[in-house]
Amino acid sequence: MPLRPIRIYGDPALRARAQEVAEFDDSLLGLAADMRETMRAYYGVGLAANQVGVLHRVLVVDVPLDEEGEARAAYTLVNPVILERASSQVAEEGCLSIPGIYEDVSRPLRVRVRYRDERGEEAMMTAEGYLARAILHEIDHLDGVLFIDRISKLKRELYVRRRKKQLRREQDEREPAGHADG
Ligand code: ZN
Repeated sequence: MPLRPIRIYGDPALRARAQEVAEFDDSLLGLAADMRETMRAYYGVGLAANQVGVLHRVLVVDVPLDEEGEARAAYTLVNPVILERASSQVAEEGCLSIPGIYEDVSRPLRVRVRYRDERGEEAMMTAEGYLARAILHEIDHLDGVLFIDRISKLKRELYVRRRKKQLRREQDEREPAGHADG
């Protein structure tokens, strides 16, 4: 199963709303399998299809349930819909698509979610804590929302400025000034 390149902040796919999946076919199974493989290769706890440039409402999560990470909750959710949110929690988040920033984000503590599995079967789940957080972070991606939209404006602007500077530096390194090699 091939890894898919992860889209990085600035890529328009991360700001697009992904569309409902209508066909539960082999290409969906392939996408879900590639996403799980890609998430694990990058040590992520979740990945949304937007992050690999596919605008379909598919997300995968794989969250450790204990300190050692031996017990895990792994799910593939297609067309997820949040039915209920309860209480709230604050914890640090990061994102494979937004390198170099980790910030506290407030989210519901518990959610009830309706979804289809990758074969099209209707399912329902109640998630709490870390799993709820991961699912909510990924559903945000499907709506074109990033976790840095949920932190203070000041912190977000600092990150964006730092990121632009870094991109300029990378560009300068690729194209040394005053060189014309044709
Ligand atoms: Zn993310």
